[in-house]
Parts: sequence; structure tokens; C-alpha cells
Amino acid sequence: MCGWTLPGKIKYWVTHHRKQKEIVFDHYGRKCCWPNCKVTDLDMLSLDHVLDNGYEHIKEIGKHLYGYLIKHNFPDNVHLQTMCMNHQFKKRQMKYRGEKLPKKVTTI
Ligand SMILES: [Zn+2]
Repeated sequence: MCGWTLPGKIKYWVTHHRKQKEIVFDHYGRKCCWPNCKVTDLDMLSLDHVLDNGYEHIKEIGKHLYGYLIKHNFPDNVHLQTMCMNHQFKKRQMKYRGEKLPKKVTTI
């Protein structure tokens, strides 16, 4: 063994991911964009693809969205907004039902 233990490896990735997440949300904002939502806890926030093309985008760039955004200096052609996990789910459900999204949640 070279001293590179599994917990250390996991700890490295958790720390690395957290640092990337902080940089990314400093750019996109650290608050959910849903009207009246007050979630600012970074653990509960995620990036929402405004055009709902997240699946295609991730497939195109590989799995590491945060690393991609930092490396490419937050490209303008990638439309993202900060949204909490609950509202990501809520947005998806509303779209499935064909309901109109609240005004503050961007749709292009
Ligand atoms: Zn929210």
C-alpha cells in the first residue's frame, strides 16, 4: 500500500467537488431562482438547464459539469440557473403536466 487509502481518496473528491461547487455557484448565484424560495444551502442547490437540455448537454461534455464550466469560463451559450433540488423536481412535474411555470423561473 502506498498510503493512499480509500477514505482519503473519497475525502479528496468530496473536498475537490465542494470547492468547484463554490466557484460555480459564486458565478450563478447561491440562491434558488424559484419565486419566494429561500434555499441558500449549497448542499441543496443545483444547476438547472433553462432549456431543459441537461441530458444532452451532460452527454456532450462528459459527466463533470462544474469542471467544464470553470475550464471554459462559464460559457454564455450554456443557459443555467440556480435551483434547489425540490424546485428542480417541481419544475419537472409541472412541465409534465403542461402547467405554466412561475415568471421568475426562466424559460427561453
Ligand atoms: Zn427552491
